[in-house]
Amino acid sequence: MAKEKKMDTSSSKQTWLKCIGCGYETDLFKERKFRCPRCGNLYDVMHNFELVYGENLNAYTKKFDDRAAQIAFHSDDPTIHSGVWRFKEWIMPFIPNENIITLKEGIVPIVRAGKHLRNWIGTDMNLWLILEGITPTGSFKDFGGTVLITVAKTAGVSAITCASTGDTSAMAAAYAASAGMKCAVILPRGKVTAAQLAQPLAHGAKVITLPGSFDDCMRVMQELVRLGAYPANSLNPSRIEGHQATVFQVAQFFGWHLPDWISVPVGNGSNVSSLGKAMRLMKRFGLKKTSRILGCQSRAASPLAKSWNMTSPSGKNFLENWKKNFRPMKVGETTATAARIGDPVSRDKAMRELVYFDGAMQIAEERDLNKAVAVCGLDGHFVCPQTGIALAGVRGAAKKGWIKNGASVVVVSTAHGIKFTESATRDLQKNIIDAKDCETETVAKILKL
Ligand SMILES: [Zn+2]
Repeated sequence: MAKEKKMDTSSSKQTWLKCIGCGYETDLFKERKFRCPRCGNLYDVMHNFELVYGENLNAYTKKFDDRAAQIAFHSDDPTIHSGVWRFKEWIMPFIPNENIITLKEGIVPIVRAGKHLRNWIGTDMNLWLILEGITPTGSFKDFGGTVLITVAKTAGVSAITCASTGDTSAMAAAYAASAGMKCAVILPRGKVTAAQLAQPLAHGAKVITLPGSFDDCMRVMQELVRLGAYPANSLNPSRIEGHQATVFQVAQFFGWHLPDWISVPVGNGSNVSSLGKAMRLMKRFGLKKTSRILGCQSRAASPLAKSWNMTSPSGKNFLENWKKNFRPMKVGETTATAARIGDPVSRDKAMRELVYFDGAMQIAEERDLNKAVAVCGLDGHFVCPQTGIALAGVRGAAKKGWIKNGASVVVVSTAHGIKFTESATRDLQKNIIDAKDCETETVAKILKL
């Protein structure tokens, strides 16, 4: 076993960036633009695993299981208490532990689908939810946030900026606050929930709203990066490194096996990108079976699913044809505002991974994604409308026969429903009983006692 090596930010041979288009390489800690100067593509983060345990899958998983066994003990070691840094050797192996900025984003609950959800899905499958809303800022973004801020701080960055549909801004503001960094967030005015607007304000971020959609915010954000802003969006590939923890947590939970399918809602595409990157890594290290990816979008914001549907499955060069068919779309209204994106910034990576892992795309109708949230609520799980997209997608894929009876399926629940109370309770207001006075007798009568 190799000893832990000291990080050398001047060396390109521990951790570096590689363009997904032309292979151009650059230094993760010096990079500020996050677009390849040669071809304009996004970067992947690369690590030299030969300096860790090479390709020895068992050596890594044993280390991660050892850490899991220590979680009951009080510890300030981020590799024990963080659900991201437990898998440090696969995520950012050469960062010294003392550099890590963590809010103790934990090992999140992975729960079996309840009765109401199972009945609604209607097909006999082994269905689970990974509840990534049970995190410091209430969404899966925290997994990427802890890594992004750790890298930014190590690189000497003092301020970060992001465009957001609500969850990224909450994450960026909280982690920047924790690291003592400045943060500015750019939001579409009136298109994030009250809870999501409260979060960056509470964490002391500068909140800027634009009179447009998220896509307008992202366009401005990309211009700001050219002017020197350090991005907390997923075009910054450090985010993707942390989001891989979803797959690692699922794999560890199932004894280092992966389910037949993993279903995710797709907005910018960062979660599909990270699922794919994590599974490629495990495959390279010897894991026999990986999951197929089901990418799901709402009807109102479905640019990737629409173009996927237009592409002939039997045609050669499916990926190239899909890319040719892709068109950004003007988004419609949806309760799933966090995935209301018509021009996904991480689409090239997401498309690459979805095709590589024999995935599929589904469009969720508005009534179905809202119904999915409602049935989860009746099982005790308050999930966000984006989770509803992924659940409606599973239901649709099962009806089409893509997901077979008995298949194991994990749905990524991307955020807590408490951020989306208005849409979740719109149809439930009629269930509120207003008692006419403050007498026990009146309440007892209502309760039929
Ligand atoms: Zn390039």
